[in-house]
Parts: sequence; C-alpha cells; structure tokens
Amino acid sequence: MKKLQAPRGTLDVLPPDARRRLELYDVSAEVLGRAGYEPMEAPVFEDTELFARGVGESTDIVQKEMFTFEDKAGRSLTLRPEATAGICRAYIEHGMHKLPQPVKVWEAGPFFRHEAPQAGRFRQFTQIDAEALGSDDPTLDAELILLFDEILERAGTGPRRRRLSSLGTRETRADYVEELKRFLRSRESELSEEVRARIDQNPLRAFDADDSGTQAVMKDAPLLIDRLAPEDAEHFAEVRALLGSAGLEYEVDATLVRGLDYYTRTVFEFESERLGAQAALGGGGRYDGLIEELGGPPTPGVGFAAGVERILLAAGAAERDPGIDVFVAGTGRDAFVLVGQLRSSGLRAQMEQAGRSLKGQLKQADRLGARWTVILGDEIEVKDMDTGAQQRAESVDDVLGMVRG
Ligand code: AMP
Repeated sequence: MKKLQAPRGTLDVLPPDARRRLELYDVSAEVLGRAGYEPMEAPVFEDTELFARGVGESTDIVQKEMFTFEDKAGRSLTLRPEATAGICRAYIEHGMHKLPQPVKVWEAGPFFRHEAPQAGRFRQFTQIDAEALGSDDPTLDAELILLFDEILERAGTGPRRRRLSSLGTRETRADYVEELKRFLRSRESELSEEVRARIDQNPLRAFDADDSGTQAVMKDAPLLIDRLAPEDAEHFAEVRALLGSAGLEYEVDATLVRGLDYYTRTVFEFESERLGAQAALGGGGRYDGLIEELGGPPTPGVGFAAGVERILLAAGAAERDPGIDVFVAGTGRDAFVLVGQLRSSGLRAQMEQAGRSLKGQLKQADRLGARWTVILGDEIEVKDMDTGAQQRAESVDDVLGMVRG
C-alpha cells in the first residue's frame, strides 16, 4: 500500500507547537484589538482573476506560484496566495465604504504559494494580516508598523531589522521604472545575464542581484525615493516623524522591493537577525489604488502580513506545558463524574483513560505535572504532589475544598 504523507511543502503543526500559535493569535487579537482592528475571515479560495488583477500579472506570485484549479462548473479558482486582495474584494462587495472610515480589520489563516520548499518556506503557510481601509492618514501607516513590531516583540522573536521606504504613486513609479530601464540599458554590458534578460519585465529586481558587477552598477542607479512627488514625499516624512516620536528604530532602504504590484507610498519589511536565508518576518505597505483597480470606489488602504511559521521559528522552543491541576487516579463513572465537577469549577483535570495500574497512574500524574492526585479506592485520598502529603477526603465536596485551596 502507498505510504501516505503530508503533501510537499506542507506542515503538520503538532502539540506543543500548535499551542504557541494560539498564544500568538491571542497576542495579536489583544494588540490589534486595542487599536480598533476587528477580526474578519475571507475565503481561502477566490476567483483567479482577483489575484491576477490585484497582485499583478507580472509578479512571481501570479506567474509561477498560484495553486489554481477549476471547479465543477469550469470556474477558475485560486487558493489565496496573500490576504489583501480578498479583504479588498470583501470591502467592495459589502459596501464597507459606507461605514465610518477607516475600516480596520485583521485575520489569521492559511495561504498558499507553489514555491520550492526549504527551511522557513512552505507551500501552505500562515499569516496574520491587518488592514486599515478608507483613509490615507499617515498615522495609519505608522500605527500598523508599530503594532506589527509590538506583536513581534511580544512573540519573543528577538532582534530584527526594520526596513522602510516609499514607492510614491503608480505614475511616479511608472516614470521611474522607465528611467531605471534607460539607466540599465546604458550600462548593459556590466550587468549579469539574468538582470539583463529582465530589464523590461522587472528592472527593480536589479537592486537585489547577488552578482558583483550588477551591484557596482546599482550604486549609481537612480532611486525612486529621490523622485517622489511633493505630496508623497511629505506623506513619507510624516510617517517617519511619527515612528520617530514613538522611538522606533528603522532604516530607510530605497531599494526595498516587495513582491506584489499594488503598493504605493509606504512599504516596509522586517527581518529577523536570528534566521538565515528566509529571514523576512513580514511586511506590508500602502495600496491606495487597489480597491479602485478591483472595481470599487477610489479608496486608500494600508496593511501588513506577518509570517506565523517564521515568527515562531525566530522565537525558539515552546515552553513546557504548565501542568494540570488534578489527576484522578481512578476509572469508571465515579472518576468521570469527579473530573466533570473539577472542570466545572475551572480546574484542569484529567482521569485515568488507558487502563494503567495504580503505580502507572501515579507516574502518569507526575508526567502531566499534576498539582494534586485524587486516588479513588475504597476511600478517597488526596495527594499533594509538591509535598507528597496525603490526606483522606470524606466526600467530593471535601476534595473540591482541598484542591481549590
Ligand atoms: P509577503 O507579503 O510575500 O512579503 O509575505 C509576508 C510574510 O509571509 C513574509 O515576510 C513571510 O514571513 C511569510 N511568507 C511568505 N511566503 C511564505 C512561504 N512560502 N512560507 C512561509 N512563510 C511565508
């Protein structure tokens, strides 16, 4: 018989790692909730066209990485590779522009990209995603960057590089891309073959090249950040001033390229100093044209996506389970009723459920880190697992009184 295994690039999240994820979601809910971000959930698959239009036809994601399939009616559907496009689709579909703006939402869930799996890179991965729609106020850009940083801090990811830039408007970017193409062509003979081949398709990628010849050329390249229109430069200056007033350390990196087409103005990416090749913990930015592009009214937006697997990888090993309150060494209905009462009174209680001997049950109580063990025999004995002291209980109420202590 064929040996069944998890599909390539997927991950089984086992205990205790799965518990750490829940803790990360709890932290996110608290940090984002205090700033007015409400949880929402969009579907895991969407019309393929949403991503083609939203993420951008020329991006690696759309060209190479989407899990696309046809449903039985012949519709082309795609497992979502990112969150923003789906949230914007929902904003339009539910007329959320009529709500008081900005609309602040967040969600956590699985995303899918057909990438070559390696440490920190999966085909199904998890993101925490937060978005503020309906306002271009620079305090939202700064707020999201600070909230993202706070989540990483609370998750224990350790030191991180915070890179920030501004891409201006689509028009500024289009003009700049033409200027960059002209520049690259003028120095074509010094560039790597790979960069040369992609001058027309994706000239911005030249800034990321590993090849030393290309890197030398790029030192003289024009920078988008020097070409921003006055209102975009002002917006960026205000975001920076706000981050400064909050005391956040960051670097302005004019070569910051994000893998999605929709960004305008602010972009950012945080990298762990603890992780190797796949070090990006998350990133985001502003996408003031996206909702209109998807058929909605002109609506600005800004958001971030944080990679859950990488955050937990950077945060290191899980802490040990703190242990249960009570182990009931006993079987059958009496034990069953007793654990029920203990749980109802808010305690973490377990009973024997695998047919162990009394000795085995006491060992199991130890393994579970039980604070108390209740031994059900002819008599009821309550053992304090810290001191080893054992006391007789006359009734269930007596037991509850002792262990609630
Ligand atoms: P992106 O919007 O593509 O920058 O993705 C945001 C974050 O999601 C990244 O910084 C990573 O932390 C995480 N991420 C993206 N793709 C993957 C993947 N294939 N496997 C694991 N994490 C990923």
